[in-house]
Amino acid sequence: MRTAPLLLIAALALAPLAACDDTSKPAAGETPKPPSPEPGPPQPDDSPADGGAEQLGSEPIPPSPDPAPQPAEPPPPTSATFDHAPAGVIPPGQGPGYLDRTVWSPNMCWPLAEAGFPNSQVYGPGGGMGPPGKPSQCDSLNYTLPWRDNFCEARSRTNPMCAGSGTGHQGQDIRPATCKKNQHWALAAEAGTITDIGSYSVTLVGQAAPHYTYRYLHLQMATLAVKEGDSVAKGQQLGKVSNDFGGTPTTIHLHFEIRAGVAGTTTDGKPVALHTFLPPYLSLVEAYQRKLNGQTCG
Ligand SMILES: [Zn+2]
Repeated sequence: MRTAPLLLIAALALAPLAACDDTSKPAAGETPKPPSPEPGPPQPDDSPADGGAEQLGSEPIPPSPDPAPQPAEPPPPTSATFDHAPAGVIPPGQGPGYLDRTVWSPNMCWPLAEAGFPNSQVYGPGGGMGPPGKPSQCDSLNYTLPWRDNFCEARSRTNPMCAGSGTGHQGQDIRPATCKKNQHWALAAEAGTITDIGSYSVTLVGQAAPHYTYRYLHLQMATLAVKEGDSVAKGQQLGKVSNDFGGTPTTIHLHFEIRAGVAGTTTDGKPVALHTFLPPYLSLVEAYQRKLNGQTCG
């Protein structure tokens, strides 16, 4: 018969369990073991050989009525960010703005070597329609976050994207890192060719489809780092941000444009013909975000 040895082993195994019943009872002065509503199957650490006293030490501790503060969990890693007003928002009376949610150039570089402050050159301090009592373009308000979209700000220039008169600002104005001209480099938003240099403009056409046209206005034209016909790499220096305006100077800023390389449609269904001025704000936001997160340009 093979049954007898098996029964004997089973009996031996049960004997210590029964003996442990007593040792698992708390001794006088010990914390009573909270009842377990649904005891699970025996775990390896519950071996009777460990003894009841040690088991008590590994049991859950009842919540203290006055728990000590626990160190906060470290926050999850977050991406660097910066304060920027929503796209398409222009203060009342300063133009229609244009809210298009398309990031037209999702891979372009932030077009400055350093930080910048996209905002209005007309309605900011020192501008032609600026706040009274703030005559200086170097007012700290102009060099303070948040960024502000100024595409389709009220201007006399033709821009079919702007509601109403079909005129408005054709790009985004960006003040450089400091209120000093001829110091801060403007960079190629993408690899391409310098197709035109005007009296206060540099035009870059992207090499890759859809061949956007980027226009940089108000660089220091006498010291440009490029000439017409040059091929440029993404992130290459083009010139220094200044106030050149073909005569009477403007404020110190880069006017940055993106124009369509092919016909298309905006997020809200507006048709876009070739060379249409596109809202650059969201592309700039994303490009600057990449820069903040350490992604190099080029
Ligand atoms: Zn401008």
